[in-house]
Amino acid sequence: MTRVAIIGAGIVGATAAFYLSQEEGVEVTVYDHGVGQASKAAAGIISPWFSRRRNKAWYRLARLGADFYPRLMEDLAAAGSASQAYEQTGVLLLKKKEEYLDEVMERALAKQAESPLMGDLEFWTRDQVQERFPGLTGFDRAFWASGGARVDGAVLVAELLQAAGLEPLRKEVSLTWDGDQVLVDGQAYDKILLTTGAWLGQVLEPLGYQVDVRPQKGQILDYQLDQVTDNYPVVMPEGEADLIPFKTGKLSLGASHENDQGFDLQEDRQVLQKLIEQMAPYYPAITDSQPTGVRIGIRAYTSDYSPFFGPLPDQPNTWTVSGLGSTGLTIGPLLGRELALGILGKTGDLDPADYPVERYVTRD
Ligand SMILES: Cc1cc2nc3c(=O)[nH]c(=O)nc-3n(C[C@H](O)[C@H](O)[C@H](O)COP(=O)(O)OP(=O)(O)OC[C@H]3O[C@@H](n4cnc5c(N)ncnc54)[C@H](O)[C@@H]3O)c2cc1C
Repeated sequence: MTRVAIIGAGIVGATAAFYLSQEEGVEVTVYDHGVGQASKAAAGIISPWFSRRRNKAWYRLARLGADFYPRLMEDLAAAGSASQAYEQTGVLLLKKKEEYLDEVMERALAKQAESPLMGDLEFWTRDQVQERFPGLTGFDRAFWASGGARVDGAVLVAELLQAAGLEPLRKEVSLTWDGDQVLVDGQAYDKILLTTGAWLGQVLEPLGYQVDVRPQKGQILDYQLDQVTDNYPVVMPEGEADLIPFKTGKLSLGASHENDQGFDLQEDRQVLQKLIEQMAPYYPAITDSQPTGVRIGIRAYTSDYSPFFGPLPDQPNTWTVSGLGSTGLTIGPLLGRELALGILGKTGDLDPADYPVERYVTRD
């Protein structure tokens, strides 16, 4: 029996737990502190294709991560879960200068052949948009991609763990050395996955590692509309404020990107008010709506904004991942499966050498 400890049950740890639970002869223990988890606070937009980022390694991961979702849903269904956490209800992009939408279309068409998941690409008039999402205004033209999706991170994490038959142990774990072996709260495991998101530094620094991962606070507002929002698309104007509709009237507005707040989880009304003001020209109803809640999570960034995954330097039995930034819900499931395969010595679809841990985690 191979005993595996997973530290951190966000989207990456929960997906790894799900795939490991399907392996013969593997016993999994999941630990999760839970506080500040990014996966539960995420907006949930899965639409990486239209980003202007030039980082090729990141884009490859983001596109493959989006492509992986239908497979994940099939695997969950095969395991008996009727998950509806992920749905392709489409995405609408709005630009202040609407001629820039032509560039968006050009870039999208260039990528469409390798990413058919992005679906149909069209320009929509305001009337067409309003048929699909009543109340949107402030523009003449929008870019529409039918394959854009939204995912409820909290629901998906819970479904993955349930399908795995695993209940995380709710505690903050400490790592120590026993000779050259890593112990988890004093216990030895055959294999360890560190899927601790923004907290990787806090987990590894007591072992003498330096970790290039910094926290970024994100706040998001939730609303309950008296409308059937099940098929409403995600709306992405320029700036931080996006609208993410879910089933049964739930609508989220977010999210902030706060680089100077460390691991703070306090609600900041001024920051939330800015999100409302940014969205008001496109969705005036937001100004009079009363939020039902605020979610706050901590994203993880490396200094060059690239994610990494693979074994810790000199520790083939301890694998880690971090730096998923603001697209971690998009790439998290794929990375979770890669970690599950990698820790068992199996080959996945990605080469960890392309996302090297040793560039961000070092030890003197
Ligand atoms: C407001 C917001 C909006 C976002 N929107 C999107 C979006 O629209 N699309 C997208 O793709 N991505 C989005 N993201 C990014 C995405 O949510 C994250 O990148 C992703 O969820 C990270 O997943 P993770 O599993 O690496 O980490 P997390 O989800 O943060 O999970 C890590 C877990 O490890 C636990 N942990 C840490 N240390 C310990 C310890 N010592 N012992 C036990 N447990 C520990 C933590 O408590 C946490 O529960 C958003 C993030 C935020 C905050």
